[in-house]
Amino acid sequence: MSKQIIIVNFEEIYLKGQNQKFFADRLREQLKIKLAAFKDYLHFSRRHGGSIFIELRKALPDEERMLVEEILRRTPGITGFYTVWSVPSRREVILEEALRFARLHYPGEGKSFRVTARRLKKSLPFTSRELAADIGALVVETLGAPVDLTRPDWTLHVKVRAEQTFIYDRIEAGMGGLPVGTSGRGVAALSGGIDSPVAAAMMMTRGMTLDLVHFHSVPRTSPRSVDKVKELARVLSVYQPQLRLFLVPVLDIQQAIAQNTDNKLRLVLLRRFMLLLAERLAGQTGAQALVTGDALGQVASQTLENMTAISEVTALPVLRPLVALDKKEIIRRARALGTYAVSIRPHDDACAMFTPENPETRARLDYVHKQWARLDVDQLVDDALARVETVDYGFDLEQVKKVMQYVREK
Ligand code: ATP
Ligand code: MG
Repeated sequence: MSKQIIIVNFEEIYLKGQNQKFFADRLREQLKIKLAAFKDYLHFSRRHGGSIFIELRKALPDEERMLVEEILRRTPGITGFYTVWSVPSRREVILEEALRFARLHYPGEGKSFRVTARRLKKSLPFTSRELAADIGALVVETLGAPVDLTRPDWTLHVKVRAEQTFIYDRIEAGMGGLPVGTSGRGVAALSGGIDSPVAAAMMMTRGMTLDLVHFHSVPRTSPRSVDKVKELARVLSVYQPQLRLFLVPVLDIQQAIAQNTDNKLRLVLLRRFMLLLAERLAGQTGAQALVTGDALGQVASQTLENMTAISEVTALPVLRPLVALDKKEIIRRARALGTYAVSIRPHDDACAMFTPENPETRARLDYVHKQWARLDVDQLVDDALARVETVDYGFDLEQVKKVMQYVREK
């Protein structure tokens, strides 16, 4: 008699008035891509205000249900979701189904409970309070569960709507934010470190569609460093399916810098190249912004002076979502995202090997310009771009399982 519906909430979007449909459509597109493997089970019905309803055509086995829930937890734009039994809004049916639900889901072991009923349709011939009391009495009588109205261990929710009544017991939190595809396009610089994957995930969760770029010094550094970055990209593809990673060789640029410029400025000059290259890639993808994992004051290149000296090479905005976060908070987020376990794997970093003993922390612009002028910038950039490799990531259920494992690991 009941059918099951997964209700996906997107409250923040709901607040956005006339844009609501646009946001809901993007979220639905993302979900269709990510839940494609379950299409025999799931039917996307229409949008209901600030929610998307996904009807279950048949019962989801436990393993599948766990994966679907994990995907929903890791989809930008979802504030929360819950699975309801949807039953006809007739008193005797509601009572019967609520009891059946309780039999299946009440945790047992003398755990206390309460029934919370809400009636959205006022014309029905019973009040919420009567309904809650009647269901409560049934559950006490049948399961021997003790009632606790103030601090119950378990709550049975009954939401009575005009045609259908929803019965459920828990709402899962989502990651919030906005659906990917609602806030334009960006290119995010992805190192093998802890910070940049968090920065990328934060912008995805703000609705941006990203392409990733990694700058490597193979063969001077080991190809394994690139494998690590690829694995980070794979983790990020759980949040944004259909993700592209550009791999750009910068060894020649590093050598040109080392041979022609003041040691102290190496890092600043290399970073300028990185942003220039990222900007050129942005031109190809139609991106309107660059994203980095800089946090103010964290390392030598991240003073205000150096950030200024670096980002002046591009007219695109350089978004730095981590700028005011401390390392502890960044690590907390990296763990939750599943990137941390990968980021802390050892690797040789193109920048670390290139860092002079006493790097400039307050680069003066006129001096930076003088050193910059010693380099054949256009040629170096063109040569690097001519050798770009791209790797594309779709959405992969195995990767979702891996992320769950990474989160447990660290
Ligand atoms: P991360 O943990 O992200 O490496 P970090 O604190 O180590 O950050 P830096 O190494 O100074 O800081 O890098 C600052 C930012 O510059 C990175 O967050 C990243 O966005 C970008 N970046 C640095 N190195 C690379 C690289 N090899 N490829 C792509 N982006 C890079
Ligand atoms: Mg780094």
